[in-house]
Amino acid sequence: MAKIINVIKGTKDILPQDISSWHKLEQTALDVFGKYGYKEIRTPIFEATELFARGVGDTTDIVNKEMYTFEKSDRSLTLRPENTAGVVRSFIENGMTRLSAPVKLWYHGPMFRYERPQAGRQRQFHQVGVEMFGVKQPAADAEVIMLAVDYLKALGLNDLLVEINSLGCPACRDTYKKRIKEVLKPEFENLCDDCKNRYEKNPLRLLDCKVESCREIFEKPEIKKVIESDFICEECAEHYSELKSYLDKMGIKYAENKLLVRGLDYYNRTVFEIKSNNLGSQNAVCGGGRYDSLVKNLGGEDTPAVGWAMGMERLNSLLPPILPEKIDAYVVSNYLPEAFLLAKKLRSAGKTVEIDLANKKFMKQLEKASKIAKFALILGEDEIKNHTVSVKNLETSEQNTVKADEVAALI
Ligand code: ATP
Ligand code: MG
Repeated sequence: MAKIINVIKGTKDILPQDISSWHKLEQTALDVFGKYGYKEIRTPIFEATELFARGVGDTTDIVNKEMYTFEKSDRSLTLRPENTAGVVRSFIENGMTRLSAPVKLWYHGPMFRYERPQAGRQRQFHQVGVEMFGVKQPAADAEVIMLAVDYLKALGLNDLLVEINSLGCPACRDTYKKRIKEVLKPEFENLCDDCKNRYEKNPLRLLDCKVESCREIFEKPEIKKVIESDFICEECAEHYSELKSYLDKMGIKYAENKLLVRGLDYYNRTVFEIKSNNLGSQNAVCGGGRYDSLVKNLGGEDTPAVGWAMGMERLNSLLPPILPEKIDAYVVSNYLPEAFLLAKKLRSAGKTVEIDLANKKFMKQLEKASKIAKFALILGEDEIKNHTVSVKNLETSEQNTVKADEVAALI
């Protein structure tokens, strides 16, 4: 026998028995996002490597360690690790700056990151996300958070925790970075290797570290005091407090978390995550924030923006399993042309119908029907002669012979 080829580590097949909950995630997105005026966008799965280096940031774990990059005809290409950069590229390239603001876009699809596979973490995973362009006011931040909560509610997920923070603008963030570095300097040797690296390149990212010994350091009173200090400037503070007042008024519960900085470089002011208590250590289902400088950094006109992405595998593991539905009818017959005709009529009436294609024995066909269908439609010699069909309800075993053109109404 030929050697079997297996799926690549960190990737998964989504099998037919599991597809219904994926359809639910996609259909609910279409419904809920549509109500807020979002339009779907589909961008390519690979882009120029430079897009992510510039768009995600070359001090991030994603760009430094996690990208699938390859060369083709002297070009460096990368499988998208996230989709904000791709959407922004398309926004600029397709002249969407000229559309009247806000421009609201949503997407879903596979993303690729070379991470250690574990529960809730894959190398090919899926995200659904939204991006809103053109509004700098905190009402936009509030609306995208509301939208996330609404989407989760529509999926039946209510007991999730929204965490928010403000990173300020580049000016106030610089002061904060300096103070964090100062207060952590005496602890430098005790930080994990990743944090030692981040200390110069991206000091805010330290606060996001999941390593227990680092988290203990951040709990030290003199360090905690700096982390929790109100460093943001007046304008940023006002933006943040307006956002909170919108959330309060809309009854959206949230917690403020000063350690929430998010992995990507491009965020300013608002950042947020939505977490579940039922997901173990990979407990974030949604991450997002404001990224006012990204469009400009990627060559577009200065355009404020805010958005989020949710991990679809993590969402799925929170949803109750959806049992595959039975089809409406299975035609039990050894007269194929007649069976084809009956199935065709019923399908055009909107019914899901299968027929036996292999000329199996009557009892075998009936067995199959009772496994997969709600009704068996028996089409024997007598039925064909009389233009009738014997309709068997497979739940109650009740059987009636009816005129062929009455079947659709019965099943
Ligand atoms: P994490 O802290 O879990 O690594 P992140 O900050 O890297 O998340 P984002 O880039 O903000 O994640 O992506 C948004 C969401 O996408 C996450 O909240 C998570 O639900 C999901 N996600 C991210 N990476 C993966 C992965 N490797 N496998 C499965 N889901 C993922
Ligand atoms: Mg990550």
